[in-house]
Amino acid sequence: KAKRGIDGVEVYDPAHHERNAARLSLLTELRQAVEGHELVLFYQPKYAFQASDELHVEALVRWIHPQRGFISPMDFIPFAEQTGYIRTITHWVMNESIRQCAQWQRSGRKVHIGLNLSARDLLQPELPAQFCALLERHACRADWITLEITESAVLDDPAKALANLEHLRATGCRLSIDDYGTGYSSLSYVRQMPVQELKIDRSFVMNLITQPDDEIIVRSTIELAHNMGLTVTAEGVETEAVLQRLAELGCDLAQGYFICRPLGVAELETWLQTSPW
Ligand code: C2E
Ligand code: CA
Ligand code: CA
Ligand code: CA
Repeated sequence: KAKRGIDGVEVYDPAHHERNAARLSLLTELRQAVEGHELVLFYQPKYAFQASDELHVEALVRWIHPQRGFISPMDFIPFAEQTGYIRTITHWVMNESIRQCAQWQRSGRKVHIGLNLSARDLLQPELPAQFCALLERHACRADWITLEITESAVLDDPAKALANLEHLRATGCRLSIDDYGTGYSSLSYVRQMPVQELKIDRSFVMNLITQPDDEIIVRSTIELAHNMGLTVTAEGVETEAVLQRLAELGCDLAQGYFICRPLGVAELETWLQTSPW
């Protein structure tokens, strides 16, 4: 908002002007990023407590800026959400991860990919049709793609979001609740959402060993999820002790720096050949 002078007339506020200019230039750069192939997906592998020949990864977007270098999604996803540009980014992320998933399928690698949707994406009525078209374009199996959504995404407009989730689920993909435990809604919405997986937020997982309360939360979340027939992933696994405790608690998948950081496709190939897991 512009500042008001004594008589209520708007006066020029240089700080406000600078902020607007910075936002405008970021939006311009973000557009160029998508068009100029500056966005890349990194993949973070998960550890499956039940050994299998199928790999699970989460796709995480990165912006390699020609001058400023590596930019974290935390520094542009919230901005993209505010401006509505997230729709374009999400479409790019869906296309790229579905293309990669299909390529792995053709080469005989069984890789399940989880990708992130923003709250705003869930309110787009055209999203399910776009997603479906991309699966067809790349001839990708729908059940190898998991869409990660947050509870708060549903809170904004529950009827609209839940209808969209049903349409997405009808394509055959899997749905997952991300950052589980950090939202306000929890159980009542989870019951209504057609999801197959819960991802326990890393704030509960990181101090599992030292904080008895956190262990109680993780333990009961795993129990609850299993009683509802859902798979459980724990995120933010940074130590071997946490990984071991999760195994004892019956968790299905673990994701975190102790297992592996997010990697580019070539690095992931190397990791697959050399990792101890
Ligand atoms: P998220 O969905 O909760 O993703 C997990 C984040 O935790 C990633 O950060 C990942 O690198 C980080 N992480 C993984 N293991 C560990 C660990 O052991 N310890 C800690 N402290 N962190 C760990 P990243 O890649 O910086 O992404 C941050 C957030 O940005 C994501 O949180 C997600 O909300 C958003 N984001 C990333 N990619 C996309 C995307 O393609 N679309 C949308 N809409 N959002 C995205
Ligand atoms: Ca996620
Ligand atoms: Ca998460
Ligand atoms: Ca998060």
